[in-house]
Amino acid sequence: MPRLQQCTDLTVLIGRMHADLQVYCEAVEKLSRRDGVTTLDDAYARSEHARLSFEASRERLRTHIAQHQCVH
Ligand SMILES: [Zn+2]
Repeated sequence: MPRLQQCTDLTVLIGRMHADLQVYCEAVEKLSRRDGVTTLDDAYARSEHARLSFEASRERLRTHIAQHQCVH
């Protein structure tokens, strides 16, 4: 795979990371507004879960770039 070729996998991974980040931001916002929050623990668990998803997709992206040496 030539280095300067646009990588579709990378585009997908970036899109997923942005989507996960969006979910995380919304979860944190809800947590801070106590919006639809039954218990604080519950809201915190949800935002933590979203954070872990985001970090996992960020890690997948980083690993892909390291292994594939591709550009966006
Ligand atoms: Zn790639």
